[in-house]
Amino acid sequence: MSVEKTRIYPINTGWLEGDLGTYIFWKGKAGEKIWNPTLCFYVDTGEHKIMVDTGLSDEARATKYHHKCQKRGCVESPEALRRLGVDPAEIDIVLFTHLHWDHVQCMKEFKNARYICTQTELMWAHNPLPLYYRSYESPVLGIEAPFIGCHFELVEGDTEIVPGVSVFPTPGHCPGHQAVTVKTVAGDIVIAGDAIFQWRNMEPNMEEKWRYWVPARFVSSIDGWRSVEEMDKRADFILPTHEEGVLAHPVYPYEGMPLRERRKPIRGASFFFGGN
Ligand SMILES: [Zn+2]
Repeated sequence: MSVEKTRIYPINTGWLEGDLGTYIFWKGKAGEKIWNPTLCFYVDTGEHKIMVDTGLSDEARATKYHHKCQKRGCVESPEALRRLGVDPAEIDIVLFTHLHWDHVQCMKEFKNARYICTQTELMWAHNPLPLYYRSYESPVLGIEAPFIGCHFELVEGDTEIVPGVSVFPTPGHCPGHQAVTVKTVAGDIVIAGDAIFQWRNMEPNMEEKWRYWVPARFVSSIDGWRSVEEMDKRADFILPTHEEGVLAHPVYPYEGMPLRERRKPIRGASFFFGGN
């Protein structure tokens, strides 16, 4: 295992408009919208070259079927990798937190990679509840999702993918969502996917006495809350897909990176699920 060598590079594939109330925060200010980046991550362990998710579709498609989107000069993940000096053909694993449209773009360009997602996610992606036709770009809409025709290796539950990189279930945003733990010299960095959208989701909403101000976009708020608690227990640092603050640093971990306190008790805003 080469924890000393492990580095994580965030890649911004474009900006999405998200509603503060129906999306970013449970009981947030509905009707007020903000722009969020859509990140995927290149993880280099020294022995393995791994992508976690592959980013957002083009502006026209995003705006037509999903949310308002602006690329603002961002490039697709394969091109972003080339600019980091990595040929997309060198990627040996693409790990998917989930298969929503803004996490799978260009995946076929990583042609030597093993694609890995959860069994549950693949099942729902191919046969979504009608409410989620758009999220998974169902053929019902007359379009083809990027994952169609791809062979996936399926995982379920806590699984080590390669030494130092593992996944664990974080359902809630969608049924088969998983987060990725990357061991680094600074500690365990959890790539959260959309289990939270922003760092603020991990902090309390004291007005409501909620230990976490969780996102509103859940298929199950109970699973979603449990997943947030689970990440809180495991992460020394969190990299969410749609957190603008992540862009402040081109590579993680970095010198002086502030580590979070795992499962920090806060008076007046209690955890719900047990365990440490
Ligand atoms: Zn997303």
